Amino acid sequence: MSRRRSPLAWIAVALLMAVIVFVVTVRSLRHKSTPPEAIGPRVQRVRNLFTEIYGARTASGIIVFDAGVDPAGDALDRLLGGLSATRSDVKEVFLTHGHFDHVAFAPLCAHAKIRVGAGDVEFLAQRAPVYGTFGVKTLNALFPVPPVIATDPLQGRTEIGAGDDKVLAIPVPGHTPGSYVFVFAGIMFAGDSINIDGDKLTYAMPSFTVDKEENRRSVAALGEALKGVEVQTICTGHQGCTATGRAPAMLAALIERAKSGK
Ligand SMILES: [Zn+2]
Repeated sequence: MSRRRSPLAWIAVALLMAVIVFVVTVRSLRHKSTPPEAIGPRVQRVRNLFTEIYGARTASGIIVFDAGVDPAGDALDRLLGGLSATRSDVKEVFLTHGHFDHVAFAPLCAHAKIRVGAGDVEFLAQRAPVYGTFGVKTLNALFPVPPVIATDPLQGRTEIGAGDDKVLAIPVPGHTPGSYVFVFAGIMFAGDSINIDGDKLTYAMPSFTVDKEENRRSVAALGEALKGVEVQTICTGHQGCTATGRAPAMLAALIERAKSGK
């Protein structure tokens, strides 16, 4: 006697197949990147699937802001092509936070210092569970990345020399405990802590942020932390950069909003 599968079993098989096809597709897509684009005279930007990565040349070598979602490094090589450099030229990798979609190629930069906020070091190294919402954890499972060992954890507001240049690192806990923004050559690299919403800036995306109130407080504190620091452009983790000349007014408006508690 032949056993018939129930309709429910067929639905389960179809769902499983759909999940497998989805996972295979997104994993192959993560090597995708756009051609390098200049952001101002010094910085190159590449979009790696849904995450932005940025790099610049300094007298002491290449510095990179965030490390995308591609552990094979195709997106890194594309960024470096725009800077006429190779992987061994990368001397600094600044990670705005430890989430999977901002860190994937960091281990490929073997000659670089890897800097991330101290609060993200443990989950970045995969010695602690991922800090994040259900959305972050689900996507993290779909896009597994290798453990990343931070060689130089960041604590407090600090300046890091890079050749004749410097990178200002400002802690902005909230999106993750170790979230930072970095300022280099008049550009702020904000990761996921600040987003662009049309002609306005806004906070970290609520569905991927555990402590939204701490993110707001960190944004409010940026007014003080940025005293005397020029920021002409803000570059985000997923939405590219503000239009030329717009960042100062947009940032001032967001800081005022954050200070008022809204
Ligand atoms: Zn994130």
